[in-house]
Amino acid sequence: MPRAVDDRLAPGGAVHRALEEVLVGCDRAARVRTDPVELVHRYADRPLEAELVALLASSVAFGNVKALRAKLADALARLGDSPSAIADDELEAHRRLRGWVHRVYTGGDLAAMLVGARRVQRAEGSLGAAFGRALREAGELREALARWAAAIRAAGGLDRREGRGARHLLPDPRGQSGCKRLLLMLRWMVRGPDGVDLGLWRDHVDAGALLVPVDVHILQLAKNLGLTRRAGASFRTTLEITEALRRFDARDPTRFDFALCHMGMAQRCPSRRDAARCEGCAVKPVCRHWSGARAR
Ligand code: SF4
Repeated sequence: MPRAVDDRLAPGGAVHRALEEVLVGCDRAARVRTDPVELVHRYADRPLEAELVALLASSVAFGNVKALRAKLADALARLGDSPSAIADDELEAHRRLRGWVHRVYTGGDLAAMLVGARRVQRAEGSLGAAFGRALREAGELREALARWAAAIRAAGGLDRREGRGARHLLPDPRGQSGCKRLLLMLRWMVRGPDGVDLGLWRDHVDAGALLVPVDVHILQLAKNLGLTRRAGASFRTTLEITEALRRFDARDPTRFDFALCHMGMAQRCPSRRDAARCEGCAVKPVCRHWSGARAR
């Protein structure tokens, strides 16, 4: 029997209204300038380049965002004006990225993924077309992502490489992971264009099918708002948070993600009552630490 939704979490309820306030209060242009997606925007007028850059940028998107952006900028400078042209030449792609390192990822891992993505792009017309086909055939997003990622891994030899970086760069979404980085790339490419997300795959995938990329900020805020009680960012947590947000906007459940994530970063949410840190938080009236509401 479906669980009853408490009034706070109903469409038009207090949590929904608070999230709309977060959207209104977000200076998206300023926030985009600090976000990895800004690097993708630089290629927006060339969709084939943009989708390759989106894959690179999202795949290494964890840790300190400033350090991450610097590493990405370095990788893109090495690849020059046309990453797709470099990716057509496997040896050249590996040569250009040799010595590049970000956390567990090496330039060789990145080159293998880029070459694989380019081969899939050439075979199917675009990565978006390849994903759209996978989605039609699989009938659901997680399995489609798994098939799409596997095709890229195989085409570029990423699955034949040793090391943690090669295993983690383009993970199999059939595992327990919430797949934050792949879902982030999908949000960038499918939603919009709205100044944040680019909408370049909107003809291939419906925004209503997207799942929320759950990072540490989204998980913490989701728990504080009662969207989930789960502790970790597993795939089940991703589904649960998305289901809650779908009640507010079934056609575009991830539209709150960017503003909410950046609010979480700016607020440095302490996940407890902290008068100084919680000052000015747009969701304070509905936060369980202040409203007395229990997580569902
Ligand atoms: S009110 Fe404080 S604890 Fe609650 S979500 Fe905002 S920053 Fe986090």
